[in-house]
Amino acid sequence: MLIAGNWKLNCNIKEAKDLSSSILNILRDKDLSSDVALFPPNIYIDTVKKIVNNSNIFVGAQDCSIHISGAYTGDVSAQMLNDMKCEYIIVGHSERRIGKHETNNDVALKAKNVMENKMCPIICVGEDAKDRDAGNALNFIEKQLNESIPKNYKDFIIAYEPIWAIGSGKIPTIDSINEMFNMIRQWLLNNGIDNNIKILYGGSVNKDNAKEIFSCRDLGGLLIGGVSLKAQEFSEICIMAG
Ligand code: PEP
Repeated sequence: MLIAGNWKLNCNIKEAKDLSSSILNILRDKDLSSDVALFPPNIYIDTVKKIVNNSNIFVGAQDCSIHISGAYTGDVSAQMLNDMKCEYIIVGHSERRIGKHETNNDVALKAKNVMENKMCPIICVGEDAKDRDAGNALNFIEKQLNESIPKNYKDFIIAYEPIWAIGSGKIPTIDSINEMFNMIRQWLLNNGIDNNIKILYGGSVNKDNAKEIFSCRDLGGLLIGGVSLKAQEFSEICIMAG
């Protein structure tokens, strides 16, 4: 499994150092078979990377540019993130799809750039409450998969994050996560992509609901937002993952 902590736009440099050191201190002597990855703001990647160096904790970025280089002020390319020794890059998070108007096509370009640079994209998909309530969630996610996953690439992770569950304290039923994971797995198989692709769940995971979520069939791990800023609780979830 992969337990990924998305710090979003949080932490100053001292907090980033304290948070990564605390997680490292709790997890360093645990013999985890799961991987743990931290996603600080880009400007702290190097600092966090140096702290967790030589441990079982990976570091990644929350996004990358659709471009490779050029006149794109403020952008950070996949190659630059590879230079910073990132292992994973989140692409297509709903906060970027909604807040920055990123399209499925943008997400596919980003995922392709990440894989071309020998890192693993975590490609996020998720329906909003309107589509869920209209019974349209499976169709909506299938369209996102068709358009957000670049053709002929096989080294990626999918994170299923229902938008209505992110930061809301609400989580889907285990049956509906299983149903969605079945559809995603079938989509992968139909597209000739092997069984080893991990499918993560994300949305309001905490230490109290994690045990129930771990009971989902085919769960490849978790993408955790708010709780990833709490060293003790995040680490406890990593330990529960085993
Ligand atoms: C997220 O933003 O990816 C996320 C899952 O957030 P939270 O855990 O806070 O719902």
